Amino acid sequence: MSRIYLSEFQKQRIFHQLEQAYPEEAAGFLLGHMVAGYIAAVDVVIDEIVPVDNVSDAGEKRRRFVVKPQDWMRLEDQADASGLQLIGCYHSHPDAAAIPSAFDLEHSYPNFLYIIVAVNEGRATDMRSYELSRKGSHEHITAVVSAESWQEIMSWPHTK
Ligand SMILES: [Zn+2]
Repeated sequence: MSRIYLSEFQKQRIFHQLEQAYPEEAAGFLLGHMVAGYIAAVDVVIDEIVPVDNVSDAGEKRRRFVVKPQDWMRLEDQADASGLQLIGCYHSHPDAAAIPSAFDLEHSYPNFLYIIVAVNEGRATDMRSYELSRKGSHEHITAVVSAESWQEIMSWPHTK
């Protein structure tokens, strides 16, 4: 994927959830659909944001995020039912940079979008998006967040 379209409203919902969970890590899934990019690549439009519970051990919630397999399966069903795809997930890095950790790298899948939000002293300060490259490292990809670009992409002819 080359670009991600996320509305300002959705971004604020993500920020709000992650700020509320501070100083623990929090996360959610991203449902969306693919559209043809401006050039040859594929862009992604995020349609829905679904917060999920962090089920890692109590002492580890500040530094890692574990999702129940049932949540994962439920989300896939929900995506199928609404004609969307499970595009990726987002999670917070409390008082740490929005850069994938070693743990993130070990637990990443290809063709899946990862949004990381730095939450410093309870405030979301930075949002970055990544996908796993063929080389096994995370590559930064661009998230476009604005009302105008959102309106523009939603007006394009595309199929869900
Ligand atoms: Zn992380």
